[in-house]
Amino acid sequence: MFILGGSNILAAVWEKGQIKLIDKPEPLINDDEILIKVLASGICGTDLHIFAGRGYAKDNIVRGHEFAGRVVKVGKNVLGIKEGDLVAVDPNITCGHCYFCRRGEIHLCENLRAIGVDMDGGFAEYCKVPYKQAYPFSEISPIEGAMMEPVACALHGIERIGIHLGDTVLIVGAGALGLILLQLSYFCGASSVIVVEIDEGKREIAKELGASYVLSPSEEVASVIKELTNGRGVDVGIEAVGKKETVLLTIDSVRRGGKVLIFGVSPKDDLINISPFDIYYRELTIMGSFVNPFTNSRALRLIEDGKINVSKVVSHKFPLSEIHKAIEVGLSGKSLRVMITFEE
Ligand SMILES: [Zn+2]
Ligand SMILES: [Zn+2]
Repeated sequence: MFILGGSNILAAVWEKGQIKLIDKPEPLINDDEILIKVLASGICGTDLHIFAGRGYAKDNIVRGHEFAGRVVKVGKNVLGIKEGDLVAVDPNITCGHCYFCRRGEIHLCENLRAIGVDMDGGFAEYCKVPYKQAYPFSEISPIEGAMMEPVACALHGIERIGIHLGDTVLIVGAGALGLILLQLSYFCGASSVIVVEIDEGKREIAKELGASYVLSPSEEVASVIKELTNGRGVDVGIEAVGKKETVLLTIDSVRRGGKVLIFGVSPKDDLINISPFDIYYRELTIMGSFVNPFTNSRALRLIEDGKINVSKVVSHKFPLSEIHKAIEVGLSGKSLRVMITFEE
């Protein structure tokens, strides 16, 4: 369905510490932009932090940075995308001329801005984006398309930490991203993946997706992990929760010479106690991973080719009019990815 310019659209705006449903004018595109009829838009863990009041977000912005939809208008400079195409969106817009962009480390761009964070995003019926942010797809559903961005983040993390054939990997946290990291770990040749997760339903899904062992985070969990790895600890530990205790558990659980990936987003002010001697003596590598430089098209490819199961990590769908309910479900700790979906 096409709408005429000047119509109003329904959008969920972050305003004065809460999400509000409002009518706003349909976005006007410039020559380098496309207008997308949003069809699926995921609620990310970072959105949930904001909605729960844990973290700052710009006022008066339509949030939603993991989305896909149908192109309904294209600017006259747009290349390779036409009206009617289905596209997934990479929300991260880089400047191309700072120190980092010119070294190819575009995700560290000094002028990084993101759709759904710094400018209007996908919790709206329509959203405009620069065409270079859009990745066309055809064989998959819009919900699967909307998972391109989180899969691309997981892909970047996995490639940074470097899993070798035969490695034992620990993943702490089986949320949507933990479950994607689990699948990618096997692709990279992990011989076994141990998953630690507090929620029983999520542990079940981790099992279905091939986890070798699923453990609940009891007091003995660190010693159980050691037992499963001949007393040594895992080769690679990935933290996908964003809490002090789970970061410490991940560090404790890797072997001497092991590697730790901090993938989960912790609150900014959190601090952990860690012994420099321990890092030295155990020769640890502790690494961070931030967003998704140059991994979007490959992430989409993995989803399109059915190599990675994203349907299993989407647990709920709500229309935009029920976004408050959707957020509640997202904050319950029982859900995986919660999607806002739209009729075409
Ligand atoms: Zn996200
Ligand atoms: Zn830059």
